[in-house]
Amino acid sequence: MRTILLVRFGEVFLKGQNRPFFMKKLIDRIKEVVGDLGGRVWMREGRIYVSDCADMDECARRVSRVFGVHSVSPAVEMDKADFAAVCEQAAAMMAPLTGTFKVLARRSDKRYPLDSPAIMREAGGVILERAPHLTVDVNHPDHVMTIEIRDHAYLSVERVMGVGGMPMGTNGKACLLLSGGIDSPVAGFMIAKRGVELCCVHYHSFPYTSERAKEKVLELARQLSEYSGKLRVLVVPFTEIQLEIHERCPENMTTLIMRRFMMRIAERLALSEGAQALVTGESIGQVASQTMEALACTDEVVSLPVFRPLIGMDKSEIVERAEAIGTFETSSLPYEDCCTIFTPKHPATHPRREQARAAEEALDAEALIAAAIEGTQAYEIG
Ligand code: ATP
Ligand code: MG
Repeated sequence: MRTILLVRFGEVFLKGQNRPFFMKKLIDRIKEVVGDLGGRVWMREGRIYVSDCADMDECARRVSRVFGVHSVSPAVEMDKADFAAVCEQAAAMMAPLTGTFKVLARRSDKRYPLDSPAIMREAGGVILERAPHLTVDVNHPDHVMTIEIRDHAYLSVERVMGVGGMPMGTNGKACLLLSGGIDSPVAGFMIAKRGVELCCVHYHSFPYTSERAKEKVLELARQLSEYSGKLRVLVVPFTEIQLEIHERCPENMTTLIMRRFMMRIAERLALSEGAQALVTGESIGQVASQTMEALACTDEVVSLPVFRPLIGMDKSEIVERAEAIGTFETSSLPYEDCCTIFTPKHPATHPRREQARAAEEALDAEALIAAAIEGTQAYEIG
């Protein structure tokens, strides 16, 4: 008898000829997250198992965060031949609990002497005998004791929901513009959840933004990497560009032009990293630079697709997501962002593209971009 983790995965990618590829990516990622816990990962009869983990709670927590995992259950694996022992074990697992329960039985071994209704009846009887404080409720039980008869008997009570999504690395690569704010980590999570590998670009305006502001962004990237796996963060020096814009462009256009430079640089870095799209945390109307017109102006300077998974979300919904994935607290640390320095009093909210192009004419865009890319530093996270 031993404790293992049962891992259930989404059905969506089970069909079709891509299945072996998806399964390999999923299993590789699970191996990666449980590796330092000593966990062994294997697959049998369409189910993934993790055994030999030193810390089963930590193992369940980590595996539940792997994209593609539907749910996980810590379970006891035991010899199925001794059915009396199986019932005693079920009772021992239920005894510390209170409230109502039912037994659910699944039998993939059709030669097993008891069928599913008999397993449920027998085990339920033993549980009630050993733990008379429990009562049966088949419709809305507080706890479900699941007994599966496969190559062994598997007993589980607890089920931890997984993050869902698709296995990492099954849908290409994208470049996330990662600020220290609440939105962009959530945007990155949502794209990564679809199996898209991420790299990140962060614009840093030293000394207007501090070393700690940069550390905060690297910490956010680390939190994202708990889901996405290893990622690279490219930190781009942005001070020179901001100073030039501030000095040479009309004040009401400065934020928009800054955003156009962010996009241009991100596109070049994305291409050099092998990424096929850009990702930002913008949502319509959230700030002046996120009106429809402003978004059109920022998009026109790049040809890679720009994904904005938060586009239709309210701030309160984004905050909820940030709390759920665990980035909210770090995002709320009060360090400055390069967007918050040199902000114009009256930014243009309905800019036209020609206006943006004209405002940029005073700048040597190519030289500024080349220098920023030249000064870019890479950090490997996760
Ligand atoms: P966030 O919470 O992500 O900071 P925000 O509401 O503050 O979003 P803006 O500051 O206008 O919005 O930025 C919009 C998007 O531009 C961000 O979601 C992010 O993708 C990108 N961005 C902003 N600042 C930076 C930065 N310093 N480095 C990289 N990307 C940035
Ligand atoms: Mg921001």
